[in-house]
Amino acid sequence: MAEKKDYYKILGVDKNANADEIKSAYRRLAKKYHPDLNKDNPNAANKFKEINEAYEVLSDDKKRQNYDQFGSADGANFSDFFGGGNSGGFNANFSGGFSDIFSDLFSAFGGTSAKNQTERGEDINVEISISFEDAAFGTTKTISINKFESCSSCKGTGAAKGTEYTTCSECNGTGRTRFVQNTIFGTSIREGACKTCNATGRIIKEKCHDCSGKGYKKINKNVSIKVPAGIDDGQTLRLRGEGNAPVRKGISGDLNVRIKVLPHKVLVRKGYDLYLDLSLPFTTCLLGGKVSIPTLKGKYELNIKELTQTGTVMRIKGKGIKHLDREVYGDLLVTVKSEAPKTLDKKIKSLLKDIELLSNDSDYTKYKSFLDKTK
Ligand SMILES: [Zn+2]
Ligand SMILES: [Zn+2]
Repeated sequence: MAEKKDYYKILGVDKNANADEIKSAYRRLAKKYHPDLNKDNPNAANKFKEINEAYEVLSDDKKRQNYDQFGSADGANFSDFFGGGNSGGFNANFSGGFSDIFSDLFSAFGGTSAKNQTERGEDINVEISISFEDAAFGTTKTISINKFESCSSCKGTGAAKGTEYTTCSECNGTGRTRFVQNTIFGTSIREGACKTCNATGRIIKEKCHDCSGKGYKKINKNVSIKVPAGIDDGQTLRLRGEGNAPVRKGISGDLNVRIKVLPHKVLVRKGYDLYLDLSLPFTTCLLGGKVSIPTLKGKYELNIKELTQTGTVMRIKGKGIKHLDREVYGDLLVTVKSEAPKTLDKKIKSLLKDIELLSNDSDYTKYKSFLDKTK
């Protein structure tokens, strides 16, 4: 099981830390563990990556909210949702890449050599539609994606037999070179893709026949996506490493699956609670009775008490949606609305007239109050 990281702990901040506190904690740690300043400490690069990952999430309100909701320190472990061939875990709405602040630091340290950066392939983003019930109970969907996968024949090197290449001497295999540029402000040193090796860092003697020397191939793959019970419209499942392979050596991107939940015929979801607007004949509201209503697990006999006022909300415990990370269910809230008939036949009309004669204004508290105020 993939261990879920505690981003607050990584940055050493409180769960309620504000944006400024997070930013300053990040800046302090990023400087401390920057790989350029820690050439003798092999763990610094990992630590630096971790710090960036934490900041990436906690500095973004939406991502932070998702992270908090899906839990980590409290033990929710979503990697369970992806069995079988998927090595990756599940995170909500996390995207890779470094933050803007990283770019600041990047220039502040005069640029990081490409050697210290692990290249990551591009993410693949897809959207799938699932039914209201599937979102509530969970489901498994298989989707077909086109992606770049590292060529197995040459182990991603692009060279025949995977071995027949030499490291580019121009860029020492980094794929990037520095060059001097003269501008009206003077000379500046810039960094860019190495032209000698086409940014691959390798000079290939004989190209791999399977991938024409590229090191990766475009393939079509069926991916099984386990959708956890309780997922809501607009949430994203992340399958780590199921995205595109990088152009050079590195790690694959992620497959982000955005979930679109189709609406239910009568039930409306808000968070983990369900809402039902129930219009009833005014006679049922007055006299009381039993009404059969739909829930996600079959019918439910709702008991309407005598003299139920329109707008009355009845809460049925535990008939809502299961929480994503625990065995807890939301509630079903039924709002009763008294409906008047659209037509009246003679018999009913005469009965209602009798009722009108027998009723007093004082039987209707709101109407009575209105009359008193406007006398
Ligand atoms: Zn190949
Ligand atoms: Zn080169």
